[in-house]
Amino acid sequence: MMQAPDRVRVIPFGTSAGRPTLNRGASALAIATDGAWVLCDCGENAQITALKAGLSLSRLDAVLITHLHGDHFNGLPGLLGTMGLEGRERPVVVLGPPGIAGVLEMLAKAGSIGTGAMPVKIIEIHEAGNLAWPLGTESFFQVAFHPLVHRVPTFGYRVSLPERPGSLDAEAAVAAGVPRGPMMADLKAGRVIELPSGERIEPGRFVGPRRRGPIVAYVLDCVPCEGAVVLGSLADVIVHESTYEHARADLAHERGHTTSVEAARIARDARAARLLLTHFSPSVEPEALAEEARAVHPGAMAASDLSPIEVGPVEVEQPLSAPTTPAG
Ligand SMILES: [Zn+2]
Repeated sequence: MMQAPDRVRVIPFGTSAGRPTLNRGASALAIATDGAWVLCDCGENAQITALKAGLSLSRLDAVLITHLHGDHFNGLPGLLGTMGLEGRERPVVVLGPPGIAGVLEMLAKAGSIGTGAMPVKIIEIHEAGNLAWPLGTESFFQVAFHPLVHRVPTFGYRVSLPERPGSLDAEAAVAAGVPRGPMMADLKAGRVIELPSGERIEPGRFVGPRRRGPIVAYVLDCVPCEGAVVLGSLADVIVHESTYEHARADLAHERGHTTSVEAARIARDARAARLLLTHFSPSVEPEALAEEARAVHPGAMAASDLSPIEVGPVEVEQPLSAPTTPAG
């Protein structure tokens, strides 16, 4: 595999709660590098929005479904069918809550989804963990997940790119006698090298600290909960549902949702750099919600369909640990 990319674009595909409106589609959001992307949730207009965003389905590595409510899931059968029609043979990974495999298998049996030669690797998640890419799939994206508190089993996601080697001061290394070529590459990769003279050189002498990749948390749908903070911990962006303004907190909680101000508290507690509010009830004014949220977290903004934000390269040099221990 080549060197991992160091930046992502976060592209909201649909920012409405429950049902689409003229300006806002049902929940879906892309996290994309130049060469690949993952889709978080798949509301019914997601595949048309992917076309508008210029993202090719052939480069889609995985679909991460939070829960099986229709406004987050109904676009998935159509999306899989289109990839099948396009003749894709590379497997696609679908992650989701318990029950997702049964629903997709039933639809496939009824003839609703023709995926042709494309293997669909469905992974049902039951508890917090990290995605181990199944055999036959590979991706730069690192994906962690954690349960959220909603009316049905729901998981939030944390999508990141791997750490990158620190920058190499090649001139200084050459001056110290390191030949250009494989030895220099070893040094840059963080390995100790031994010069022909027998001198051992530690990489730290010429290579800066490793840099972590961008981190994006995706937290839909839920009441304010611990899982949201875990997923958003030190993230560059936390995408959080904000179904109602804070004055309707009781209604929000009754329906398993979060308000703008509560989403901002989550982002603040997680020490996330930015907060992207989404999943707006058609009855709210998203800019007013962002205004409320900014009183708590100055990095809050309201998401709009197809208005991307850029994340990375990350300036923080020390690596940050993932929220959960790697599975297996
Ligand atoms: Zn929803």
